[in-house]
Amino acid sequence: MIDRFGRPIEDLRVTLTHTCNFSCFFCHMEGEDNAQGLLTPQEISLVAKVGMEYGIKSVKLTGGEPTLRRDLIEIIRELKMVGIREISMTTNGVLLRSLAWKLKEAGLDRVNISLHSLDKNLFKEITGVDALDKVIEGIKEALKAGLRPLKLNFVVTKKNITQLEKIIEFSREIGVDELHLIELHPVGLGRNVFSYHEKLESIEKILREKAEKVEIRNKHFRPRYYIGNLVIEVIKPYANPIFCAGCNRIRLTVDGKLKTCLYRQDKEIDIIDILRGNYSEDKKNELLREAYEIAIAIREPNFKFKVEPYATS
Ligand code: SAM
Repeated sequence: MIDRFGRPIEDLRVTLTHTCNFSCFFCHMEGEDNAQGLLTPQEISLVAKVGMEYGIKSVKLTGGEPTLRRDLIEIIRELKMVGIREISMTTNGVLLRSLAWKLKEAGLDRVNISLHSLDKNLFKEITGVDALDKVIEGIKEALKAGLRPLKLNFVVTKKNITQLEKIIEFSREIGVDELHLIELHPVGLGRNVFSYHEKLESIEKILREKAEKVEIRNKHFRPRYYIGNLVIEVIKPYANPIFCAGCNRIRLTVDGKLKTCLYRQDKEIDIIDILRGNYSEDKKNELLREAYEIAIAIREPNFKFKVEPYATS
């Protein structure tokens, strides 16, 4: 099923918790309020299962820090059981050394691990925690466990842009599959620190010159630069109608809302009463289908027209 703008929904991004063991200075909190109340593994998998009727094929688990959910293994198993084709997770990686193999065994296919600096002090300044070594161990263990393609997420800011070359070198050295360069979004804390925003155009110019091959991914029309054994993907959502035109994502918030866009809190459908209501299985499925249909009907690109890039107002 496609929305009014011809865009399918194929990917469900699920916020498992707002609790985090890091405090990144730019955290966008997935565009959500700091809401209470967690969905159970069964509630999450039911939403995913009904979503499959509308085109959902993959689920990305996020947070907060998703590895802090004690029932993470059960969540992954439930999603696998309902037939989700690809389950991935975005994590800060700090607990991966002990968790990687268990997650793989439960059915997690791959991970994105956030790494914004290879300098210990700067890492602490950005994340609030002195944990660079543990994160590196986590990345290495995830590679060994086969959580691949393994992707590193690097949010580009004025604070850490000098780290970029080192991160590329490190990624190639240890055999990371992809490096994602993410533009800072003015969402959540990102709104308060948008003065750290760094344009990605000049980085892309260098990547274009170095790349043996450039591809444009269907998802968000993200450009992908192939340089040796590494793919560098550039994620540039701010003020970018092209990005929105290729959006195939719908979100499930921590407190049970179908959220149609990272940037929008007015385009959400609350489904908690459906999930927790005293309905028969058939009725619950029917109500969830209706909720998806409304969400798809109201879904719209946040940036519809070419706008002045990087205007902050
Ligand atoms: N705690 C996990 C982590 O660190 O990956 C998952 C949650 S985090 C909100 C998900 C991804 O969003 C991470 O890669 C993070 O770096 C990125 N992110 C957070 N705030 C952002 C912002 N303001 N702009 C761009 N990306 C951001």
